[in-house]
Amino acid sequence: MGKADSAAGDTTQDAGQAWHALGAQAALDAFESGNDGLSADEAARRLARHGANALPPPPRRHPALRFLSQFNNTLIYFLLAASVAAWALSHVVDAGVIVAVVLVNAIVGFIQEGKAEQALDAIRDMIAPKASVMRDGKRISVPAAALVPGDMVLLEAGDQVPADLRLTRTRALLIDEAILTGESVAAHKSEEPVADDAPLGDRFSMAYSGTLVAAGQGAGVVVATGMGTEIGHISRLIGQVETLTTPLLRQINDFGRRFTGIAIAIAALLFAFAILVRAYAWDDALLVVVALAVGVVPEGLPAVITITLAIGVRRMAARHAIIRRLPAVETLGSTSVICSDKTGTLTRNEMTVRRIVTAEGEVTLDGVGYEPAGALVKDGEPCAAPPHVTVSLARCGLLCNDAVLVRGPGGLWRSEGDPMEGALVAAAMKAGLSPENERAGQRRIDEIPFDARHRFMASLHAGADGAAVWLKGAPEQVMAMCREETTEDGTRPLDEAGWAGRIAAAASEGERVLGFAWRPAPGEKRLSMEGVGEGLVFLGIAGFIDPPREEALAAVAECRSAGIAVKMITGDHGATAAAIARQLGLADDPIVVTGAELEAVSDADLPALARETSVFARTNPEHKLRIVRALQSEGAIVAMTGDGVNDAPALKQADVGIAMGRKGTEAAKQASEMVLVDDNFATIVAAVHEGRTVFDNIRKVIAWTVPTNGGEAIAIIVALVAGLTLPMTPAQILWINMVLTVTLGLVLAFEPAEPDVMQRPPRRLGAPLLSAFLVWRIALVSLLFVAGTFGIFGWALWRGFDVDTARTMVVNTMVVMEIFYLFNVRYMHTVSISWRGIMGTPIVLAALGAVTVAQLAFTYAPFMNALFSSRPVPLLDGLLIVAVGVVLLLILEAEKTFMRRTGLMDRLGD
Ligand code: ADP
Ligand code: MG
Repeated sequence: MGKADSAAGDTTQDAGQAWHALGAQAALDAFESGNDGLSADEAARRLARHGANALPPPPRRHPALRFLSQFNNTLIYFLLAASVAAWALSHVVDAGVIVAVVLVNAIVGFIQEGKAEQALDAIRDMIAPKASVMRDGKRISVPAAALVPGDMVLLEAGDQVPADLRLTRTRALLIDEAILTGESVAAHKSEEPVADDAPLGDRFSMAYSGTLVAAGQGAGVVVATGMGTEIGHISRLIGQVETLTTPLLRQINDFGRRFTGIAIAIAALLFAFAILVRAYAWDDALLVVVALAVGVVPEGLPAVITITLAIGVRRMAARHAIIRRLPAVETLGSTSVICSDKTGTLTRNEMTVRRIVTAEGEVTLDGVGYEPAGALVKDGEPCAAPPHVTVSLARCGLLCNDAVLVRGPGGLWRSEGDPMEGALVAAAMKAGLSPENERAGQRRIDEIPFDARHRFMASLHAGADGAAVWLKGAPEQVMAMCREETTEDGTRPLDEAGWAGRIAAAASEGERVLGFAWRPAPGEKRLSMEGVGEGLVFLGIAGFIDPPREEALAAVAECRSAGIAVKMITGDHGATAAAIARQLGLADDPIVVTGAELEAVSDADLPALARETSVFARTNPEHKLRIVRALQSEGAIVAMTGDGVNDAPALKQADVGIAMGRKGTEAAKQASEMVLVDDNFATIVAAVHEGRTVFDNIRKVIAWTVPTNGGEAIAIIVALVAGLTLPMTPAQILWINMVLTVTLGLVLAFEPAEPDVMQRPPRRLGAPLLSAFLVWRIALVSLLFVAGTFGIFGWALWRGFDVDTARTMVVNTMVVMEIFYLFNVRYMHTVSISWRGIMGTPIVLAALGAVTVAQLAFTYAPFMNALFSSRPVPLLDGLLIVAVGVVLLLILEAEKTFMRRTGLMDRLGD
């Protein structure tokens, strides 16, 4: 009995214990558990003793280290070296400003990185896995972290095993243990003990935490949790943090690195030129080229883009779309096809049985929702006593069923379990059956659970009148197993053609149709796939209404305007799917292809077919994979939804795999890039909307940042090469850079979506980040900046101001032009001079306030004048500077309108 003490009692978990070699019952005894599981109290006690069933979070980099890593960058080394040089040459101000630029950049980068990490952490918590356990004899769902040794855990296909289990019951249980053993073929599990010295991969009596149930069902008692599990021993392997990088970010980092190299090379050339040709003192020349390099390299860009992506992730989460892999934010923005499930995603998944058809005729059911109240109506008359076969069908629907109806607060009835099964319970109650009595009178002794591949469910029951098999499923499937049908007084041969007509009639009205059958099963104890259909007798069909989601209607319309094709992929009947597709406006005359037809099409012909088709009906998960591949072969960026374990390959293949948050399995979630908290199609479209916004904002950040740097650099190079007085001192260049990086440089990341974001076609695959239009725009703005800079500089000198005042005016002009350009760039495609455009967002206004204060200080504060050799600027000249900004804005707005009206914008790829 020592074992009982050691496991259930006060011990730490003994991971060395060979549970796999022990009998199932012995394991249960050791934990003082049983098929009814633990009591809630006992579970709470054990939780307090053993701690949460969780692995410690992956080690975090210490904040100080994270801060230091901000300096680990070629450019920063270069800058710090330059600062030391400046210091040694007693250019103290320049040295100080360089250090300030470096520090500001590091602080901004540090904060942004922290924010981005927080956003991802919060999301990780939102998708914490759940587990089905028996507590006090009832099956409940608890967070996996709440499991304790001794808990009885139930497993089904698609689940992630939540702790190490000694299996006590298995049914064709297959578990994918690749994460532990590297073995890609799923292992057959059984409850029989295995040899004491069996290696991990051969311990068929165990299910290990973190592995995935590929098929079948099972139950097992928890023998180890948290760090005590096998995966806990190797937890560093699964700590894989989602990295904060995406293809786009990598592209930009590469670009930044190359750019830095080129900038430093050019700076070196200029340095030589300044000394050799222009006879600069070498320390002056050095400072100029350093300032130039600092000015021209967009060192803050990767950080701003990271924050833009993180904001996108947060906005998507607020709209119930959880991003599991950061690159999906980008990919969503270019999605061109969305393949969606029907039930629950496009429809409400609130089912109500509307008609039951048997050999005795058709009965319609009154009532709405899951409330079990409503009359059965036959030939326009409420029936006093429901027809005989109808009641049998209702009983079949009640017994071959895992759902219960509960009455929530406010008297609202809801289904706990599958909505369609909930509707069947309500229908049975309308037919006068009591779920409690029926289910108690005919105990279920075995079952074949529903699977999207075989499309039926069967259960074996033992009652006072002997045992019987009850079966329900897709009507064609059920009919294929039956030779006879039930009539009021016996059976007769199945009238297949007649039923096909009745099924088509119900389906064409958008009803989901289910077929029912039964047979006596004297002495049977177990159901098998092969034997279940032997002697089955057809009972009839039921038609369910499941109204389309209203928000899906709007979302489909939005997709159409956004050039995104929507395809419905469903296991449901073609006519049902087509009717719903019509109601949703998916297509006026939807082309429907069934899974069977799909199988007859060759891979070569599939792409064209897939493009044309808007409804794929009676498909199974394998078809999804072919459809995604076919669409992708034509260059489409495909988002695909899925919920079952068999959907995982298609989800992985899709550019954006989307798992259902509620009804999705853990396997589907792990294979996907995004999880829909509310299983709602409209949420996918909302996420696409946010994805496009993120992309726009990234382009805006670049379009705004690059000309600033370009303008400064060109101005200095022109002055150096032409032998003119420099329009800005090195310290001033660094100042502009610093002020703009911390203020305006950040705000574009927070921009809301432009009004037309869902009215243009998706971004082409592989389209460069900088379209030809954007390149032209950057060149134009850089030149305008140079013109403005030299214009003001020349004008100030002509007015007779000293060089310091002229330079102060140049610095202010640069900043003012940046501000006005920001307003122009906020709307890439539409006019910016509007009330909404001018008011901006709070963050734009805050940044504007900050820049203004900084510039006023720069110009008028004596200590700044001393530091930067700036001089107060007369008011009127100040207004002139603002006017330059206004002119810049007007020119750029005129250009935007011209480019759009003439269609040049489109032609240049924007
Ligand atoms: P959908 O794409 O609508 O989610 P499913 O793959 O869930 O389709 O279901 C396909 C078909 O299988 C349904 O049209 C129905 O006929 C049948 N079916 C669905 N759920 C069950 C169930 N719980 N029991 C029996 N049959 C079912
Ligand atoms: Mg389904």
